[in-house]
Amino acid sequence: MFQSPSSNLRAAGVVLLTLAIFVVDAFTALDIAIAVLYVVVVLCATSAWSRRGVLLTGVACVTLTVGAFALTHHDLASSPMARCLVSVAAISITTVLALAGMAATDALRQRSESLRLSEAFLASTQRISRTSSFRFQAPGGAMYWSDEAARIYGVDLAVTPTQELVRERTHPDDLHLLASAIEQADRGEPAIELRHRLRMPDGTVKHVHMIAHLAAVHGGQFDYLGALMDVSAAHEAAEALHRTQAQLAHATRVTTLGELAASIAHEVNQPLAAVSTNGNACLRWLDRPEPDLLEARLALDRILADTCRASEVIKRIRALARKGEAQRMPLDVNALLRDTASLVQRELSNHRIVLELRLAPLLPLVEGDAVQLQQVVINLLMNAMQAIDGSGPEWLRRRQRIVVSTCLQDGQVTVEVADSGPGLSEAQAGRLFEAFYTTKEDGMGMGLAICRSIVDAHGGRIRAVAHDGPGATLAFTLPCAAVAARAGAAAGVAA
Ligand code: ADP
Repeated sequence: MFQSPSSNLRAAGVVLLTLAIFVVDAFTALDIAIAVLYVVVVLCATSAWSRRGVLLTGVACVTLTVGAFALTHHDLASSPMARCLVSVAAISITTVLALAGMAATDALRQRSESLRLSEAFLASTQRISRTSSFRFQAPGGAMYWSDEAARIYGVDLAVTPTQELVRERTHPDDLHLLASAIEQADRGEPAIELRHRLRMPDGTVKHVHMIAHLAAVHGGQFDYLGALMDVSAAHEAAEALHRTQAQLAHATRVTTLGELAASIAHEVNQPLAAVSTNGNACLRWLDRPEPDLLEARLALDRILADTCRASEVIKRIRALARKGEAQRMPLDVNALLRDTASLVQRELSNHRIVLELRLAPLLPLVEGDAVQLQQVVINLLMNAMQAIDGSGPEWLRRRQRIVVSTCLQDGQVTVEVADSGPGLSEAQAGRLFEAFYTTKEDGMGMGLAICRSIVDAHGGRIRAVAHDGPGATLAFTLPCAAVAARAGAAAGVAA
């Protein structure tokens, strides 16, 4: 094995010391146990050689002790013999203890090396997964965090974390979330979870997810261990997905309305143009000095025929809309509401609105088109959200909520969407479902009209419910699947 210059020097020193002791022991007549000094040789050998070298040194020292005695003394029962035995015992014991010490040191070195390796491994996995670990004591105790946490918080690795620093970095709009997590820790709750935003000094925003578990309790102090993840990338991906979903939903609504309007305009325009032409002709026949009543009558007949044609066109379009692409099947309204809630959840959270589902258990199934009914619910939820949004500054709206509830009433499943917005005036409530009625700058006024035609087509009813307090409630009913099937069969018989 490669030996460094200093360990070579030490080895040379050990050899010289050994020779010096041997010379004094073998060739001087001093009446003391000189050989005991070999103990020093063995101890010095531990810093110059490996365990094998130390063992050989011990053996060599014992051999030299016995050799020196054999050279100078021949009386086995004399006191020099006793000194020789004492020296041999001292050298042997020192060698054994030195070897044991070296073994323990080696084990310790190995352990600290593997600890260093696993720390490096942990640090690199924390860096790759953008997950850090931390420890803190509550109330208001010391904090410790891994290097990755310092990186997430954008502070120097040498900076000692404090609650103040964490608060400083938290996005001002999320300080209340942090405060409630700290309150939970101060109460010693077993698990704490927090999703919030950090605002970096350069203005960038990071989304983090923190989970902490109570690890120990001593004398009113709670020790928490936890992990902090930088979930900005996942959050951005989810946001992009959500934006695409919202755009798609909007595009579908606009396209459907646009297509419907274009086809109505096209189909109805022709008979209307004919009505106008015939009306003018009729006026001309009547305005003559001698009115031609026969021609006027013929023109009026054509007007009536064109009016019938226009009304036929409308009927056809309505029939088409009724046939539509609707996929009727038995539906669990509660499941539909849960699915829809998950679609709009993010949009509502972005507007700081809490969505509460109060769903009656064991509701019977309804017969319907899941996509259409989902459109109805989304429309009602979006209207509720926009109503709340327009009801004052954000700081006043912290605890706004929309409650979606279901119940069974007179064999019908009722869905209610109640919000805490400004509510509806009586005049408004009367016009709500009219096509093109809107109070919004960019509104189309078709949402509730479409909702009504969908609910009507399902054999149900939609209405605005009068409220005692603030806010508005829109409710719709749907007949249960069995009732709808019986009504369908009866309609078939009647036809
Ligand atoms: P739009 O949303 O395009 O205005 P809608 O037909 O969906 O069209 O809504 C018509 C009008 O009904 C809205 O402009 C609004 O004035 C009123 N409205 C609907 N839902 C609510 C509600 N939850 N609270 C208050 N007003 C509402």
